[in-house]
Amino acid sequence: MANMPTLLLFLLLLWGLGSQGFPATSETQEQDVETVQKYLEDYYDLKNEGDQTERKGDSGLVIEKLKQMQEFFGLKVTGKPDAETLKVMKKPRCGVPDVARFVLTEGHPQWEKTQLTYKIENYTPDLPQADVDHAIEKAFQLWSNVTPLKFTKVSEGQADIMISFVRGDHRDNSPFDGPGGNLAHAFQPGPGIGGDAHFDEDERWTNNFRDYNLYRVAAHELGHSLGLSHSTDIGALMYPNYIFSGDVQLSQDDINGIQTIYGPSQDSTQPIAPQTPQACDSKLTFDAVTTIRGELMFFKDRFYMRINSFYPEVELNFISVFWPHLPNGLQAVYEVADRDEVRFFKGNKYWAVQGQEVLHGYPKDIHTSFGFPKTVKNIDAAVSEEDTGKTYFFVANKYWRYDEYRRSMDAGYPKMIAHEFPGIGNKVDAVFKKDGFFYFFHGTRQYKFDHNTKRILTLLKANSWFNCGKN
Ligand SMILES: [Zn+2]
Ligand SMILES: [Zn+2]
Repeated sequence: MANMPTLLLFLLLLWGLGSQGFPATSETQEQDVETVQKYLEDYYDLKNEGDQTERKGDSGLVIEKLKQMQEFFGLKVTGKPDAETLKVMKKPRCGVPDVARFVLTEGHPQWEKTQLTYKIENYTPDLPQADVDHAIEKAFQLWSNVTPLKFTKVSEGQADIMISFVRGDHRDNSPFDGPGGNLAHAFQPGPGIGGDAHFDEDERWTNNFRDYNLYRVAAHELGHSLGLSHSTDIGALMYPNYIFSGDVQLSQDDINGIQTIYGPSQDSTQPIAPQTPQACDSKLTFDAVTTIRGELMFFKDRFYMRINSFYPEVELNFISVFWPHLPNGLQAVYEVADRDEVRFFKGNKYWAVQGQEVLHGYPKDIHTSFGFPKTVKNIDAAVSEEDTGKTYFFVANKYWRYDEYRRSMDAGYPKMIAHEFPGIGNKVDAVFKKDGFFYFFHGTRQYKFDHNTKRILTLLKANSWFNCGKN
């Protein structure tokens, strides 16, 4: 730290320029400046060369590294340590740099054989041994399912991939940092330490949703052991930050990466891998869309998308990051604005949330709560009108109208969608209401609809709300 002050002052200056209104005391600012410094040193190859940081031009280097980091995480590239950038830097993650510190081997190292051995050198006291064995075995299976690679556990002697739980400085030039932060790291394929995976024993390792799920972290680290580097795809296991969405599976991005190195599995059955939606993909469709506290939120598979000022295009993340207790693959969502409540539907169940809190007693049943007949198995789309207190539920080619004040279904429903909303087709994927108009989604199409005149005003692409240029 002796040589820090100059850089510290410089970063503080950047800070002042970059994050007006951020309620930080000078103490927290200094901590944050150290966070930025250490993060860029650890993961973006910013050299800590003592006095040399005082040389002219090094401030430019910090800005460059910050920009590199912001680009990697899809943040607005400002070159300034703004609040959103800091938020990402404070997330627990893998200790392997996003930008290589030095190249151990030229090119992309890979194992030259398909039969590999692994050994668990020691066990964490956080879990029963059988659970550790099972987590590691499952993590290897993810990768062997899609490649010709086979993994055999050995308990004696040396193995290609040695797995251990260690803490602090463990003599590989990559010390761990106590609880949180840097969780684990692994070395690219090669002899000796090559392929080995180290887990920080200062973390609490679990087999559930608590911090940190060993299976989830092992699945990522073994990707490094096999030669993969970090992915910018937030849906990929090889994304550097720890995200546990309940299930652990390779994304198409992970599979493409590993099969580029080793080719596909000889088994004819290839698992179906989830894709991460691309906001500007002209084929993008949605499961559900809603207004939420003045913003728009779009749902697709495991992900939500929304527009805000921190991301140049669209913020994309796992639904579980926002609402850990909601399922993936939501089918309908609507907001009851005057109650500040959002209701999520899947199958015959629905969940009510306020902010990030799922309200007590949910999920509830749609039949008993709203009075749907048993023949209704799920809701396709729903939207509530703030001015009338009426909620419209779309199911196949019909719709129901529910009164939020009387808390009962209006008489005379269901009716045909084509009767009240002509032209939008006979199935609705998603709908929301904004500035007096309905926006209906069907496949890649979106209809701006005026309920008063019962007319479509504009035909749009489903992703028209995203800043995609022309599409
Ligand atoms: Zn990693
Ligand atoms: Zn290590």
